[in-house]
Amino acid sequence: MTINLRLIDAHCHVNFSAYRDDPEAVISRALDRGIGMIAVGTQRDTSRLATEIAAGHDGVWAIVGLHPVHLFDSRVDEEESSFTGRAEVFDPDFYRRLVRESNGKVVGLGECGLDYFHRPEGIEPEVFVRRQVECFGVHLDLAEELDIPVMIHCRDAHPEAVAAYRETRPDSDERGFPPGYQAHEDVLALLQGRSNQGHKLKGDVHCFTGTWEQAQAYLDLGLHLSFAGIVTYPPRRCDLAAGLVSTQELARRVPLDRILAETDSPYLTPVPHRGEWPNEPANVEFVAAELARIHGLSPERMNSILLENTIRLFGLK
Ligand SMILES: [Zn+2]
Ligand SMILES: [Zn+2]
Repeated sequence: MTINLRLIDAHCHVNFSAYRDDPEAVISRALDRGIGMIAVGTQRDTSRLATEIAAGHDGVWAIVGLHPVHLFDSRVDEEESSFTGRAEVFDPDFYRRLVRESNGKVVGLGECGLDYFHRPEGIEPEVFVRRQVECFGVHLDLAEELDIPVMIHCRDAHPEAVAAYRETRPDSDERGFPPGYQAHEDVLALLQGRSNQGHKLKGDVHCFTGTWEQAQAYLDLGLHLSFAGIVTYPPRRCDLAAGLVSTQELARRVPLDRILAETDSPYLTPVPHRGEWPNEPANVEFVAAELARIHGLSPERMNSILLENTIRLFGLK
């Protein structure tokens, strides 16, 4: 890269229709402030668009893949209005070509992983889980073949679904859930199994929220963890009541050489702009400032740590 960057938003969707009217405005607002970005695809169209945006800008890179919510019909992401609701099948050849023909601008595969939060109707839980696990496995194989990192998306079942299940089984413990509830546990089991078989793995668990034990297990696998605007929100009372550590405390415990900052724009706008739509990559500065505060570092020092980590993990050039 020839541009001088201070910070990179490790995960955003400037390729989404939320910016249809003027994507250049949000991209240049970030670049003008020395903030680069990685635009992440979620299916064929948004992956292709991410590569085109990256090709057109110094300081912008792309990651391409199929998000697990797009494996099922009518899984409309409430705010991503361009999505037609038709299920897609992961075609490794399509994504391999995007990577190979990108001149180093496509720097990873994803976002891929498991999403148990959004449940399609009329799909058996076993099929719901199996299809996601298979698709994630193909992403991991392709990333290993191409020697690029994965951008992992992982979301447990909706707390209401968990509470409803608990009500039917008051004696159930944390490990007693049926398929389709504990996404982090399933992702970790899959990754640990592959690691034991000698598979290579590098990547980032994006917008991490989970337990400290899960965070540690990801770190033990050599992965990075990235934090989004959630780290600027007050801890949720229900999480604290459940004995979970806050996202701030998780971020404090992550070693400085494994931490990344992201916006997940257009979602999760950080404080002090929380509630505004859409979020944008320039706002990664607020996420980074909070990480600096949590770690007791100056914003400049934290920015340079985050910049270095992102460049190193994704081999940005
Ligand atoms: Zn995600
Ligand atoms: Zn995302």
